[in-house]
Amino acid sequence: MSNAPSSADLLDRSLAAVWHPCTQMKHHETLPLVPVARGEGPWLYDPQGRRYLDAISSWWVNLFGHCNPRINAALRDQLESLEHVMLAGFTHEPAVRLAERLSALTGGALGHCFYASDGASATEIALKMSHHYWRNLGQPEKTVFLCLEGGYHGETLGALSVTDVAIFRDAYAPLTRNVRTVPTPDARRAAAGESAADVARRAAQGLAAVLEAEQGRVAALIVEPLVQCATGFAMHDPEYLRLARQLCDRHGVHLICDEIAVGFGRTGSFFAHEQAGTRPDFLCLSKGISGGYLPLSAVLTTDRVYDAFYDDAGSRAFLHSHSYTGNPLACRAALATLDIFEADDVLAANRARADLLTRCLAPVATHPRIRHFRHRGMIWAFDVADAAPDFARRFFVQALERELLLRPIGNTVYLMPPYVLDEPLCRFLAERVFHTLENIV
Ligand SMILES: *Cc1c(COP(=O)(O)O)cnc(C)c1O
Repeated sequence: MSNAPSSADLLDRSLAAVWHPCTQMKHHETLPLVPVARGEGPWLYDPQGRRYLDAISSWWVNLFGHCNPRINAALRDQLESLEHVMLAGFTHEPAVRLAERLSALTGGALGHCFYASDGASATEIALKMSHHYWRNLGQPEKTVFLCLEGGYHGETLGALSVTDVAIFRDAYAPLTRNVRTVPTPDARRAAAGESAADVARRAAQGLAAVLEAEQGRVAALIVEPLVQCATGFAMHDPEYLRLARQLCDRHGVHLICDEIAVGFGRTGSFFAHEQAGTRPDFLCLSKGISGGYLPLSAVLTTDRVYDAFYDDAGSRAFLHSHSYTGNPLACRAALATLDIFEADDVLAANRARADLLTRCLAPVATHPRIRHFRHRGMIWAFDVADAAPDFARRFFVQALERELLLRPIGNTVYLMPPYVLDEPLCRFLAERVFHTLENIV
């Protein structure tokens, strides 16, 4: 402790040297950075020992707590044999084993796994692969992508093109193209007497109209199944995905499910699309894939797509790569994560955990300032009425004072905790959310 640099010094050095993501740096003149010295389970600790319950899983990546002993052990073991090797022309057990297990988790429907490093690169790969597939089939005119109103798929240029969240897109809109936005099935859009499934059907009609209008030019529709997270946790009925699948099939269009945020048990099923009883042509995975340890993403796809690239001609191949594609350490972290899912029957445990936390949150759900309290699997969200423009920042600060890491989006507060909260921690979280809410203007 004694020779640890003081927090103040660390913050100054960080502000001088590090350009922090998703941040107006000038705001840090009044809003201090939070220094983190270590993590343990759901807790983050600062150098002075102050603790914060990581109720948003460090931007939705952490599944089984920080410094999880089982994932740590797997990584230590992997470090002793192979840290990295290029995956073009070479292979290794962790990459193969992980591809096999991910495929098995789709019932073998998506049997080919293309690796990358971040979520955005998985989106890029799915978009490029879809277009290239149609090109290989003699339909190069299929260059249009459809995305949902409020959709978020990452912030590199291709991913941003299919992202419809103003704060991320506005400055770069002139650099993006070939995209059409279709209506969101956001259940909050329900008119009086309408169900979430009705909203889903209405949104699907909007999708059908665009598919008709763009006849023959659309390569793929990209969707965040069940929960559009970054736009403010808009949830929708699985009916939308079922109808979207039918419409895509009818019009010869790929369905890309971006499960970067909602995969790995987050919505209650292992993959969110399972709740619609259907499969996509491309499945994008990242975030929870490595348990929140290392950057890793994957795009899973079908034999049909894979076969369209399998040829003597190099130009028909998918010539895309990232230097760290299939990194062995990241793959081992992912395998250890899947081991925990199996060994602990995590989906069943989460059902009980989610029931408990939902019960604990009843006073929040019925709070007079709350609108649209919603929940699916291990995600909870609600909108706060009459929120001031700087509500999100002030809620964040007030929550920190109550030992909670929460980071609202606009006036939407959400909880996306790691899958390790026990009963006392569920109560702690719900009570402190309630108190933060009570004290915020
Ligand atoms: C976070 C996210 C991405 C982007 O992932 P990065 O690793 O941040 O590039 C893409 N799609 C969805 C749905 C996400 O939530």
